[in-house]
Amino acid sequence: MAASIGSVTRQIAALEISTTTKKPSNLPSSSSSSSFRPGHVKQNSQTNVSKLLTKFSAPNPFPNTKPATSSSLRNPLAATTTEKPAIKTPRPLDIGSYDGGLETDNEKRGEKVYGEAADDLALDSSVNGKNPTREWTLHDFDMGRPLGKGKFGRVYMVRTKSEPKYILALKTLYKSEIVQSRVEKQIRREIEIQQNLRHPNVLRLYGYFHDEKRIFLMLEFAGKGELYKQLSKYGRFSERRSAKYIYQMADALIYLHGKHVIHRDIKPENLLLGINGELKIGDFGWSVHAPGNRRKTLCGTLDYLPPEMVEGKDHTERVDHWALGVLTYEFLVGNPPFEDKNSVNNTYRKIAKVDLRFPKGLSPEVQDLISRLLQHDPPKRLALDQVISHPWILQHSKSWAP
Ligand code: ATP
Ligand code: MG
Repeated sequence: MAASIGSVTRQIAALEISTTTKKPSNLPSSSSSSSFRPGHVKQNSQTNVSKLLTKFSAPNPFPNTKPATSSSLRNPLAATTTEKPAIKTPRPLDIGSYDGGLETDNEKRGEKVYGEAADDLALDSSVNGKNPTREWTLHDFDMGRPLGKGKFGRVYMVRTKSEPKYILALKTLYKSEIVQSRVEKQIRREIEIQQNLRHPNVLRLYGYFHDEKRIFLMLEFAGKGELYKQLSKYGRFSERRSAKYIYQMADALIYLHGKHVIHRDIKPENLLLGINGELKIGDFGWSVHAPGNRRKTLCGTLDYLPPEMVEGKDHTERVDHWALGVLTYEFLVGNPPFEDKNSVNNTYRKIAKVDLRFPKGLSPEVQDLISRLLQHDPPKRLALDQVISHPWILQHSKSWAP
């Protein structure tokens, strides 16, 4: 069973498989810190999707290939590549049945957009300067089951018609709805940021294309869906499970910060889970490229806002360190530390005072980690490489290290 899940994972992850092992020069050394990246697959809690995939899985096509890491930079879907990606699927993976939702939607939803907005939203990765992909259209995909509904359109599990048949999540965005919400620039930025990122815990964007009314994003398929759903289902996570997620988050944030990307909207709702239960940072809506400049925009979810943003001060990548502390707390306790359901002002006050209280039952080690991340003064917050080597992480990593 484990082998077959592994092989399917590799087929899905094959989009990441690269013949290059060259390490990108702009990657901070600590971000390749996969020395104890979890290789463990929990077998007894498979989702329907993973069961489905297992059932239709093929033998491992990459017996000697390591799973993708942040160092695999070449995109096998890129137009420039002449090499054939090494996938041979004797039997195509089942992607579930399509409900015709795109056609139904398209008749009654969205309008054409014109002018500057139309230019902003004419997004096509085949004409993207640095990393052009081949030209894609909707006809290039077999449509599968619906995965969810986003703010601006539906998300489907799809497979490329051409060999090798890649499994992807295809996310649609209605241009006119983006314009109505006045987020053309933000969406464009989100897409531009995400397409340049390659890290095992950052959801990959392989390419994108558009038609008159819609934008389509070809996203890495996150087989186990939303982390938020898991948190709601179980109420909270064990320290062991939380430690694994926090390690993966810290590793991804080291990578992002190394590329001068601040996420700014870390929270369980923006995290997805890969087929092996590995964490994937999904939403880049609020991210900014921060080449040295600090920004004051107030954004993000209230519960995860750091004191400097609550107080309207400048902020840096240290906002993500704070959010990581909030996330650790929420994983273990089931709600964020400064939450006040009755009053937004109270939440603000608690954040500004760092009114942090731990319920009984949390280990002293994790209390130490959370307290070190939730420091009022941004420079005092624990560095991310110290998060990764914190005793709490090290203690639990023994149980998931290969
Ligand atoms: P919202 O504001 O509701 O979060 P959104 O526009 O950000 O919407 P997403 O959250 O990206 O949209 O997608 C909607 C749903 O589709 C998600 O909740 C998730 O269940 C599913 N989904 C999105 N992307 C993927 C993916 N790559 N793999 C698997 N499922 C996905
Ligand atoms: Mg979302």
